[in-house]
Amino acid sequence: MDTRFFAAWLDEAARLVRRDRERLTRLDAAIGDADHGTNLDRGFTEVAKALADRPPGSPGQVLTEAGTALIRRVGGASGPLYGSMFRQMGRTLEAPVTLARFEAAFEEGVVALERLGKAALGDKTMVDALVPASRSLALAVRDGIGALEAFRLAADAAAEGARETIPLQARKGRASYLGERSVGHEDPGAASAALIMRALTDVADRDQAEGRWSD
Ligand code: ADP
Ligand code: MG
Repeated sequence: MDTRFFAAWLDEAARLVRRDRERLTRLDAAIGDADHGTNLDRGFTEVAKALADRPPGSPGQVLTEAGTALIRRVGGASGPLYGSMFRQMGRTLEAPVTLARFEAAFEEGVVALERLGKAALGDKTMVDALVPASRSLALAVRDGIGALEAFRLAADAAAEGARETIPLQARKGRASYLGERSVGHEDPGAASAALIMRALTDVADRDQAEGRWSD
């Protein structure tokens, strides 16, 4: 997995966020302030632009630059949270990137996000999609599963984690102000985290189909 691969991941994340912008905003309208789709679309559009204007020299730099752009451009809580995750991932990721190295960096990124948000699994936040993805990657590394399959499993775990936020009561962020009325809705941040993981597996699958993939 090279520098181009990570830039392609973020471009694909930008595309999926743009495609699902209305859905993310609708989810945020139910339990927040109806800006999650526009927040992230603005942020990831800036990420794609920053990466095109100043192409980074390493996978780690791609992620660090992306994190910086998200922190700079997203007004809502999700900007600093995703921004810290990507920046920590970027600082930790060593080249040449293997699945094990990616998993280690991803895990550190998620920990940084959890620390900043003071959120844990079950609080009905993006953490509820990211932690299952992280655990799934760790199991894949342990079991010697290839990166393509590992990314697919991680994206599925994130989507499942997002769905599982529906019956939860929010304990962090704006949705927590609603108390019990936050129950019965999918958390918008968990939904966007699932999209970001979907983008990773999409890009890996596309590279493989085009004969460009190497683990
Ligand atoms: P805002 O809540 O400021 O309007 P967004 O709408 O962009 O920001 O993002 C909302 C999402 O951010 C929530 O759905 C939740 O997943 C996530 N979030 C909010 N607060 C926290 C927190 N303290 N820890 C982790 N995630 C959080
Ligand atoms: Mg919001």
